[in-house]
Amino acid sequence: MILFFSLLQSVIIVSEKARFTAVSIDLNHFKSVNDSLGQDAGDKVLIGITERWKTLSADESAAVQNYLTRINGDEFLLIICGYDTEKELRDTIDRFADALSEPLTVEGCDLYISASFGYAEYPTDADSADSLISHADAAMNEIKKANSSDHILRYSSDILRNEHILEIENKIRAAIENDTVYFNLQPQYNMEHKLRGFEALARMKDSDGSFISPGEFIPIAEKVGLIDKVDSMVFRKAADCFSRIIKKSGLDLTLSINASVRHLLKNGFIEEIQELISKSGISASQLEIEITESILIDSAEKALQCINRLRDIGVKFAIDDFGTGYSSLSYLSKIPADLLKIDKSFIDRINSNESSKQYVAAMISMGHIMGLDVISEGVEEQEQLEALRSIGCDLIQGFIWGRPLSADDAEKLVDSITAQT
Ligand code: C2E
Ligand code: CA
Ligand code: CA
Repeated sequence: MILFFSLLQSVIIVSEKARFTAVSIDLNHFKSVNDSLGQDAGDKVLIGITERWKTLSADESAAVQNYLTRINGDEFLLIICGYDTEKELRDTIDRFADALSEPLTVEGCDLYISASFGYAEYPTDADSADSLISHADAAMNEIKKANSSDHILRYSSDILRNEHILEIENKIRAAIENDTVYFNLQPQYNMEHKLRGFEALARMKDSDGSFISPGEFIPIAEKVGLIDKVDSMVFRKAADCFSRIIKKSGLDLTLSINASVRHLLKNGFIEEIQELISKSGISASQLEIEITESILIDSAEKALQCINRLRDIGVKFAIDDFGTGYSSLSYLSKIPADLLKIDKSFIDRINSNESSKQYVAAMISMGHIMGLDVISEGVEEQEQLEALRSIGCDLIQGFIWGRPLSADDAEKLVDSITAQT
């Protein structure tokens, strides 16, 4: 393989951007041949297949040249050069696949063996020997998984994206299994810098201890249906911590938790929140659930019913990321909520010109008309804070007064406040 790899690198140098293709080949169900007929029969199959393919490779009359090597076990790598069109390339690969259509007779048994072929072209699909092979492998693994009658697939960037999603999905599953999803608490303040409470934010680490951003794992958890488990783990852990903090300090604070609408719509959400309140010992009025505006728009009735029932027992609701969806005023006025969270993107440009500031002022007025408090997210600079004060914002959350904190640091923050009073 090392030899072949250097050959590949020299092909790249010699070809000077002339294209060629690497095909990663893996036999299908080869293990069952070994398991059922024994290792010797397995070896004979490999020899038989290699002979058929070598005959194809050795055909010097063909304009298209190819080089075959066995990587290990039942894995092969084929390099194809000298073709002019995609069809010519595909025909060559087809010939390797077709060479397996006749059965191989091994120890008196007719065996039908097929293989999966994934290919990537230099320089279109990859610009180095390393990435060419790994992209061909990714395509091969993808077509093998697909279990379709077609066994040949060209690399595309979607394949790597799918692989990445799968990798993160597995990490989320492991974190749920091992109970290692944890949380940070980001402080929220009123305009006089008095602590109002905390927003709990989900956190997850990789096995090597590196941090995986929620911006990455939350959307994947949503997509693969694991978000309710992530939410619940954060709810439970954050509520226990928060309950300790408020009991110790005696302060009346609010804990905001993020719930995906998928989770909210699940049967049992109301009961889950009721249990959270009774087990942690925090009062319903100290709990606030944040729901994203854009998602609320799509799933009206059932979500509204659920929100209403929880508000009846005193739980508060916040409309998160306000301004990013397309909700009409009349729709918004129907959402039973307590707090409007203006999205960071509006705060980022609040001082870029007068109309941006007036836009935020209009959102604040709108919130007030609907009887809601308004919090601005992602406040980082003093000038943003001044602008928000001048247009009547009620609360802020942002790096200027507090980054997301570990549970210990959040407790210390509250300790320092109680020590002052
Ligand atoms: P979000 O709910 O809008 O949370 C606020 C995000 O803005 C957090 O990012 C927070 O760290 C960040 N942030 C706050 N202040 C500032 C600031 O001044 N500057 C900058 N640059 N960023 C600031 P994070 O923690 O990465 O969370 C990203 C998103 O992931 C959250 O956005 C929320 O939508 C989602 N999320 C987090 N935890 C959970 C959870 O437990 N359940 C669900 N369903 N979603 C969650
Ligand atoms: Ca939020
Ligand atoms: Ca938000």
